[in-house]
Amino acid sequence: MIPKSHPRYESLMMREKISEGVKKGLVHETGMIAHGRGEAFDYLLGEKTIPPADNAAVAAAAYLKKAKNAVISVNGNAAVLSGRECIELAETANAKIEVNLFHRTEERVKKLIKFLEEAGGVDILGREADARIPGLEHDRGKCSREGIYSADVVLVPLEDGDRCEALKKMGKRVVTVDLNPLSRTARAADVTIVDNVVRAIPNITKHLHEKHDWDKIIQNWDNRKCLQDCMEYISRRLSSFYEL
Ligand code: ATP
Ligand code: MG
Repeated sequence: MIPKSHPRYESLMMREKISEGVKKGLVHETGMIAHGRGEAFDYLLGEKTIPPADNAAVAAAAYLKKAKNAVISVNGNAAVLSGRECIELAETANAKIEVNLFHRTEERVKKLIKFLEEAGGVDILGREADARIPGLEHDRGKCSREGIYSADVVLVPLEDGDRCEALKKMGKRVVTVDLNPLSRTARAADVTIVDNVVRAIPNITKHLHEKHDWDKIIQNWDNRKCLQDCMEYISRRLSSFYEL
């Protein structure tokens, strides 16, 4: 048991969830490495939602609001860290959820669907794998026809760069959550929220409940500028660290 008073309580709880997820067969072992990379970037941000990430969450809400067929793609890490929050977001945005895995096994897909159903999710897609994302080798390209394949907007937290680029080539709008503003995923997406999924997902839901001129937000959205702002934030924070 980690005491709540521990200064790194939240970060340690996330580690526990990932580690438990591996033991239960929900998270692939490489998910631990991906989480570690994420943690390092979260440290650089100060483990909070920085202003450009909040702007990106508003843009993500705009794309979800305007979508005809929005799909939230959930993998092992996203499910164990923010499964409940993804379900709430799907309900608010009228989006579907698809379990879609980089290291796909039918067993892990089934386990994750069950995990999300136990957290309150309904009609979770992903088992059928009756379509393919062109350009990706066999298992990595499998997806649901009703879900990712036919979606116009896909929210893919913690996605791999190749798969993000393949979804873009299919003509989709891709929204991602990635703590690393330098990753290929971050650079390929239409909207990149440089924030931890545990903060970013509920933040999108919060913004969806607000009133905004959604069309205007989409029109004015400049993802490269947002990524640049994130990198400047990190640089400024580091260069003045002992002056704060
Ligand atoms: P790319 O393939 O896009 O260049 P990568 O190979 O570095 O990136 P992957 O290992 O494919 O990245 O995916 C993990 C990504 O998810 C990392 O960029 C990491 O920073 C990010 N990440 C890990 N945990 C979280 C989290 N909890 N919230 C947000 N992002 C996270
Ligand atoms: Mg990668």
